Amino acid sequence: MNILFMGPPGAGKGTQAERIVDTFGVPHISTGDAFRLAMKQGTPLGVKAKEFVDQGLLVPDEVTNGIVRDRLAEPDCSKGFLLDGFPRTLAQAEALDEMLADMGRKIDHVINLKVDRSFLLARLTGRRICKSCGSTYHVMFNPPKQDGVCDKCGGELYQRSDDTEEKVGTRLDEYSSKTAPLLAYYGDKGLLREVDGEKDIDAVTAEIGSLLRG
Ligand code: ADP
Ligand code: AMP
Repeated sequence: MNILFMGPPGAGKGTQAERIVDTFGVPHISTGDAFRLAMKQGTPLGVKAKEFVDQGLLVPDEVTNGIVRDRLAEPDCSKGFLLDGFPRTLAQAEALDEMLADMGRKIDHVINLKVDRSFLLARLTGRRICKSCGSTYHVMFNPPKQDGVCDKCGGELYQRSDDTEEKVGTRLDEYSSKTAPLLAYYGDKGLLREVDGEKDIDAVTAEIGSLLRG
């Protein structure tokens, strides 16, 4: 099954992806995670990405498309994939269509997590992530059992450097101007499924699960 998760920063894409990949047995591909890993390792890709990520801006399409093309060619994607945070521009969506056509594949489901902008600042500034396993928490809405410690692996939790009030504003503006228009692109193709992302985490997981099971 080939799935895309759409929605603004903080909509819950990563949180839901962590749960859905276990159920459907497909790899979770997050371009944001790929950039953060490259930045941590200081690779040429990471150095390039950092210029943009640190400002809350989108990384240029040619850089981003290359990562996704390489990742989709890996063997574990042969059974399907869940793309989270890609595509984010019309040019990326068109590039993805081309990549999949070259592989003789297609998108099965586009799930849009709908969350009003007024919720997103609190969600993003309260987000905490495990340094070891990448699990996502929220200080109020999904707190770990012990402050600052991952429930799953005992790793240390950290706050992303772009989850500040100032950067969130830029990221949400990038979403509105460049990514939101993709909803019409997938709507016109009859692929878009809307999910109310303002419900609690378990309710959202249940709604996505029932959509994907058809
Ligand atoms: P995205 O990947 O779309 O940027 P995340 O999955 O990282 O979003 O979620 C952003 C923050 O909001 C995290 O701290 C997460 O724990 C929290 N969160 C996710 N889904 C919900 C929800 N349905 N209700 C309340 N908080 C949520
Ligand atoms: P995310 O983890 O999805 O919130 O992404 C974090 C940051 O990585 C974004 O603010 C962008 O700077 C960059 N990024 C992630 N995915 C993309 C993409 N598809 N296109 C361009 N930039 C991206």
